[in-house]
Amino acid sequence: MNEIYTTCKSLLYKVKQSVVPFKFYPHRATLNYYTGCKFGCKYCYAWFSMKNYNIDSKCFPETCIIKSNAVEVLKEELNKKTWHNYPGIIQFGNLQDVYQPIENKLKFTRTILELLYQNQKPCGILTKSTLINNDIDLLSEMAKKNLVQVDMSIACLDEKLQKSIEPHAPVYSARFKILKKMSERGISTGIFIDPALPIFTLDAIDDIFKMGKECGVKYIFLGGIHMRYWKYKIFQEAVNKVYPNINISNYMDFKQQVCLNINHYYEIIKKSFSCSIKYQLPFASTDPQYTTCNFNFGSFHFRHPLIYDYLDFLIKYRGKYVHLEDLILYLGARYEKTFYTSLDWFWNNKKLFDNIQFLNINSDDDRGVKYRLNDDYKLNEYITKIKSPFKL
Ligand code: SF4
Repeated sequence: MNEIYTTCKSLLYKVKQSVVPFKFYPHRATLNYYTGCKFGCKYCYAWFSMKNYNIDSKCFPETCIIKSNAVEVLKEELNKKTWHNYPGIIQFGNLQDVYQPIENKLKFTRTILELLYQNQKPCGILTKSTLINNDIDLLSEMAKKNLVQVDMSIACLDEKLQKSIEPHAPVYSARFKILKKMSERGISTGIFIDPALPIFTLDAIDDIFKMGKECGVKYIFLGGIHMRYWKYKIFQEAVNKVYPNINISNYMDFKQQVCLNINHYYEIIKKSFSCSIKYQLPFASTDPQYTTCNFNFGSFHFRHPLIYDYLDFLIKYRGKYVHLEDLILYLGARYEKTFYTSLDWFWNNKKLFDNIQFLNINSDDDRGVKYRLNDDYKLNEYITKIKSPFKL
């Protein structure tokens, strides 16, 4: 690995909420102190970041540019009013894995975590690395104060393929093991199926949910794949090294960026939705209709995807008890069968309005479950907490 040391004037960066994919994530600020990533994933969108240093993007896996004064700069920033009062989540490295091998030598991630902990700043970490094991002591201390969320990136379960497309990243089984260990130590964990891969993710979805549940993760997030055409060729070559007869182009859409074609992407989303219901594990994706949790940091509330429609329904009939049949009449037949099956489950198990009791919803199960929204429901809380779960 070539190490290049540089300095920076600022480290924390506010993410524009409107930028996809960030509008689906709970964090509103990021920091990056390593550029380049040894894991060298062939689908990685971050290779372009080398260009900021006039280095060829293809050098991303062999070169790491290190902001040597990152810790000092962060200390200063956290003392400034804007960041001192900043209430949102700071996401570690969205342009590299902050637990790539160089962390073993430099320990920047550890030092920065300590700094955030001292300043009581909540943060999120997305990694593929087992090196995070070294910091479990600190992470569990942070977890006690609800200051950290750790997500493991797992795109499929085919370890032969993984060796080719994520050549230097730890194997999937090791990632699940570390997830389990973290959950057992009280750290809030999740799985990012990010990016969803053609064919291989769909094949693995059920097992990812099953194993995630066994490891105690709190939710699963699914994100799409986006690549420039030259990057897609590198990815395709890595897939065909292992599976020469599979033509992944059949599952892709070739626009300005190469991504999964919409039908295949929705096949994966819908299967994830069914698995979310099957394993009772919250699921978030870029489509709110198939999203089964509120993605609020530190408290991932399982909810049915059409919750807003149901609340509108209760508002319409406020003060009166309503049965499931009334709701189905109100909704009409516009959704797929799976929605009604899962709706039935949520309604009759009294889970439909879990975690939003603050709206003053009463239930009664005299001859079938029925709900009522009392007249004095807290509309403002409905708008801020439920309608805008991503706003911090
Ligand atoms: S681990 Fe993440 S940042 Fe590193 S190469 Fe893979 S996708 Fe890119």
